[in-house]
Amino acid sequence: MHELGLTPIWRKKQSGVSTSVNTNLHSTIAIDDSDDHRFDRDKHILNLNWQQLKAEVENCHACPLSQARLHTVFGVGDEQADWLFIGEGPGAREDEIGEPFVGQAGKLLDSMLAAIQLKRGSNVYITNIVKCRPPNNRNPEFNEAEQCSPYLKRQIALIKPKLIIALGKVAAQNLLTTNDSISNLRGRLHYYSDIPLIVTYHPAYLLRSLMDKSKAWEDLCFAKATMESLK
Ligand code: SF4
Repeated sequence: MHELGLTPIWRKKQSGVSTSVNTNLHSTIAIDDSDDHRFDRDKHILNLNWQQLKAEVENCHACPLSQARLHTVFGVGDEQADWLFIGEGPGAREDEIGEPFVGQAGKLLDSMLAAIQLKRGSNVYITNIVKCRPPNNRNPEFNEAEQCSPYLKRQIALIKPKLIIALGKVAAQNLLTTNDSISNLRGRLHYYSDIPLIVTYHPAYLLRSLMDKSKAWEDLCFAKATMESLK
């Protein structure tokens, strides 16, 4: 337990009609959000291999978050991991270097992993709901997460994890398509498609809310026991 320290305005367009998006970033981009385009795009992404998927994300401009990013943040780790950790989106440091969960929150995540005998990069993959940094570290908008979701779906299909850990409310709510609170979602086994999923707090939240570290420890123990039962 010591590892944990326990001791833009986005407008949806009408189907089939081009539209502009005011991102609050003093620029506009055109996004085709028609059902046909979405279907074709989803189908295309769901057939990509790792290399193609990484290249696609790197060049993606499907939502306004592309406009202010320095780097896309695809994900990091073992591409055949049993454990998949999913956060909400890159922060400033992640945006700078293109890797998820660096800085203080990343260090805490590494400590959380160590607490259950895991290590970044070894049987663990880490990524986010959105691959580009939301301005001022705000939560991703619904439509941004929706546009980015085919990439995450494809990552999950390629990794085939045994267990997904949703880090924080945004990840949990997007993966489980619910508005339920994190306190209601914790402590239960959920499923993403047929993959078991457990919800815990985001490390950045735990840095501000030390009292909840003991709950995160409970979640990690639950996750470890669940993984054992899956073997
Ligand atoms: S957040 Fe996702 S959908 Fe939006 S531009 Fe970045 S990669 Fe594309």
